[in-house]
Amino acid sequence: MPNTKLSPKALKKFIITLLVPLPVIGLICFLIGEHTLKLNLQHISHSYVNQIESIVDELRDENLQALYDAATCQQIQKDLLFEAFLREMVIIKDRKIVCSSKRSEIELAQIKHRMPASMLKSGEYLFDIPYDEGSVRSLLVVNQDKHNPDRSAISIIDQSYIDVRLGLDDDDRISQSVMTVSGEIYPSNSHIEANRFLTTSHSTHLNIQVSIVPSAKLKNELYANSILFSIPISLFLSMLWHLITYWYQTKGSLAEKIKKALKTNEFFLVYQPIIDSSTTEIKGIEALIRWNSSRVGFIGPDVFIPVAEQHGLINDITDFVLERVLSDWNENKTQNLHMSINVPPSYLSQDACLDKLSTFAQRYKTQGLKLCVEITERQLLKENDRNVLKEIQQMGVDVSIDDFGTGYTSLSVLQNSEFNYLKIDRCFINTIGIESVNSPVLDTIINLGHSMNVLMVAEGVETKEQADYLLSQGVQLLQGYYFYRPLSIEDVLETLQH
Ligand code: C2E
Ligand code: CA
Ligand code: CA
Repeated sequence: MPNTKLSPKALKKFIITLLVPLPVIGLICFLIGEHTLKLNLQHISHSYVNQIESIVDELRDENLQALYDAATCQQIQKDLLFEAFLREMVIIKDRKIVCSSKRSEIELAQIKHRMPASMLKSGEYLFDIPYDEGSVRSLLVVNQDKHNPDRSAISIIDQSYIDVRLGLDDDDRISQSVMTVSGEIYPSNSHIEANRFLTTSHSTHLNIQVSIVPSAKLKNELYANSILFSIPISLFLSMLWHLITYWYQTKGSLAEKIKKALKTNEFFLVYQPIIDSSTTEIKGIEALIRWNSSRVGFIGPDVFIPVAEQHGLINDITDFVLERVLSDWNENKTQNLHMSINVPPSYLSQDACLDKLSTFAQRYKTQGLKLCVEITERQLLKENDRNVLKEIQQMGVDVSIDDFGTGYTSLSVLQNSEFNYLKIDRCFINTIGIESVNSPVLDTIINLGHSMNVLMVAEGVETKEQADYLLSQGVQLLQGYYFYRPLSIEDVLETLQH
């Protein structure tokens, strides 16, 4: 697991990226919802038109039956006796009513006078039929006898019947509907304000159209849904965007960022004391690099050191650490303190390695520090590197084998290399107190160290039990959270003064 944490700046950026897409996604969801609502309204108005078409078709069938099949007026009256929806059907001949299905409940005389001649032609019309209490706007379906144009059948239904049949009164999806038949409208005098939700459907074969306006409930559903959908979608998108940019920033160009960070001073050092196991006196210090990236936040060395190694930047980092120790220590002189620097094998392979280390060793000496290089044995030490180690020691720099026991070369390194300290890796120290009475592998490593007469440093000492055990086994130096965590330069200088 990479040792990365979000800085407050990165956290702020993360929250902003969560919120920024919200209005845009909200708008997109709203437009999609609006489009869906319009399709829905189109569907509703279309179904109204279809139902009116089927009512007209039924009436037309009745008209044609009355015109061509019925022998007498009595038969028409008998046929239509139970047609509840039909207010009345009349047969007109030479502009006179010759038969009425309901025996003239309607003031036929009035219709006769007021109905324009054009309405006697086949078609659908809206007409206000007068009653005592006023007039009722009704739908008239007219069929002219094709053999005798002076004869027509007129079926009349109240518009309210259409309302009931269409279920308009109970339809909470719409707030207003207007039907237009051959230029007349129902409800009469109705007026619909033009708005973006007004939807009109036309009949394909009749002169009828229906316009509807959605109810507030339907519109509110649209607004609610666009908010409801936009929140998870925008969360998802911003998370995705954040993950991609985060990946790009941390992995994609980490090497570039390391290069920049070296120039912009984003790296700094912390110092972890190494103590004498019998006196707990501080004998040495290990310098450990830290990176607080202005863009990504804190990045652990276990993340960027391997990247720096892969991209040939590790030697620059090592130079930075060697130099930074001196500037951190500045005028603070100490006496005989070992300063351990982690040096990768690639540093030893440089032509200038010995010159550089010798210069640093001198400068460290003037600060009262004894330079010690920690070489990890994770990478195989080449023959040449081993010779360099020898020369390093000859110029008075101590050599410590880091992470001992975890690499490939453990035994051959011991056999062939010159070194002053053996740092036993944390994973072996962890076994103290966990395995039965003793820790067999750790004990073997310690015995090996004794028989080779080298000083041993135990890394990662976290408990008293571990410290006591290591002391009892004769491990001379200890390093770990039980004694000191890595400290800032200010804290380590203060600690040293006590
Ligand atoms: P390392 O050289 O083995 O450094 C010791 C690591 O153990 C440090 O981790 C230190 O903070 C941690 N540590 C010390 N005491 C304890 C303890 O009691 N418990 C636990 N759990 N951990 C403890 P850090 O600083 O995160 O460094 C990790 C590794 O990164 C180092 O392992 C080293 O390999 C590399 N590194 C750190 N600084 C530098 C550097 O300046 N140059 C190079 N080349 N590598 C470095
Ligand atoms: Ca080390
Ligand atoms: Ca180590």
